Amino acid sequence: MGQALSCGANQENGLFSAVQLGDLETVEALLEVDPSLLHESTVYDRQSALHIAAANGWIEILSMFLERSVDPDMVNRHKQTPLMLAAMHGKISCVKRLLEVGANILKFDSLHGRTCLHYASYYGHSDCLQAILSAAQSSSVAVSWGYARFVNIRDGKGATPLHLAACQRRPECVHILLDNGALACASTGGYGSLGSTPLHLAARGGSLDCIRQLLAWGADRLQRDASGRIPYVVALKRKHGACAALLNPSSAEPLVWPSPLKFISELNQEAKALLEHALMEANREREKNILKGAAYLLPSPSHSDVTADDNISEASDSELCCICFEQVCTIEVQDCGHQMCAQCTLALCCHNKPNPTTSCLTPPVCPFCRSTIARLVVAKIKEPNDPDHEVDLSSSNLKKPRKSWNISSEESSSFKSLSTIGSFGKMGGRGSGRIAMENEWIDKP
Ligand SMILES: [Zn+2]
Ligand SMILES: [Zn+2]
Repeated sequence: MGQALSCGANQENGLFSAVQLGDLETVEALLEVDPSLLHESTVYDRQSALHIAAANGWIEILSMFLERSVDPDMVNRHKQTPLMLAAMHGKISCVKRLLEVGANILKFDSLHGRTCLHYASYYGHSDCLQAILSAAQSSSVAVSWGYARFVNIRDGKGATPLHLAACQRRPECVHILLDNGALACASTGGYGSLGSTPLHLAARGGSLDCIRQLLAWGADRLQRDASGRIPYVVALKRKHGACAALLNPSSAEPLVWPSPLKFISELNQEAKALLEHALMEANREREKNILKGAAYLLPSPSHSDVTADDNISEASDSELCCICFEQVCTIEVQDCGHQMCAQCTLALCCHNKPNPTTSCLTPPVCPFCRSTIARLVVAKIKEPNDPDHEVDLSSSNLKKPRKSWNISSEESSSFKSLSTIGSFGKMGGRGSGRIAMENEWIDKP
């Protein structure tokens, strides 16, 4: 009997080490001899062979196990599922396979009370994060729990996936989570009580990119944590100078993504990417001034080196935005078909200070025809020799408007006022930009 036991232990070890090494042939041979090995677990951590395959990303072995109808939700000593381990180690194919067979995304481990969504966010695996979110949208979780609630799910200490991504300096995950409805102002203390916000944790981690994202999605620089500190104080204490400069409540307000607007939430991916890029660029312009003033140097991000001037040199005159005369028209308003650049579109929609109770009340109107904007799409590039699109750029005023627009004198004064606002980047530094436009476009009879 002693012999049989030691033999079983050897086979068990044999299976686990074969899985660890990704040795499919040996794994198959061992299971041929004793299929029940699949339900064994390691002595100390209580890991199953499925856990080991998932953590190491051996998709063929994992698939073979799942075909033998192993429970995809079996847990180890810390109540971690194979899905959590795959998400922790960024094994995207295993994550996808486990989701396909219906692995439970609402399991909590016993270490910190975290879900697979927390794991993907904490370890910064944005592909796994995206896969889990997609699965959540189509699974029963969305029905029973509500998708928004799942995105903002809390661990044992009250941290949402957004908190963890911000703390661990994972800007890509921060972006995906915000884009999927994560609450930028969530407090680890729960509703109504003091705790840390994602902005506090980003300040602690010192990630400028995370801070940019959070600010652009309306995170509040004045919210206090349990010790009464605002994120600015946290960044100062950790000696993250550039982060502190952005978080300083006396520095200029960033532009905030107008997420409460209906047509913004209905944007297609292409138009959304254009507008988001324009927003981040505008905030970077504003940021440069803040950091210059604070005498901090930013590592220059390679992708933001494209300036408005570069765009101009590439654009033929006919495609230039009739509001700013600086950028190419990339966004079209539906159904009227009027076009403007992404910067000017955002200038129309952005709220410097988001107010969730009022920001939805006045949807912006098309600056050309004043119809309420129902939808924004990416503008189609026009034929350069189309006579309809000749615009005189020799003067700063709009001398020769597009023939089809029929701009009245009153409306052209609106154009002028917007032209004087100049580039969107400059406008970003001025808190009154939106108010000025509202007076021109909305309040006037
Ligand atoms: Zn423009
Ligand atoms: Zn229009």
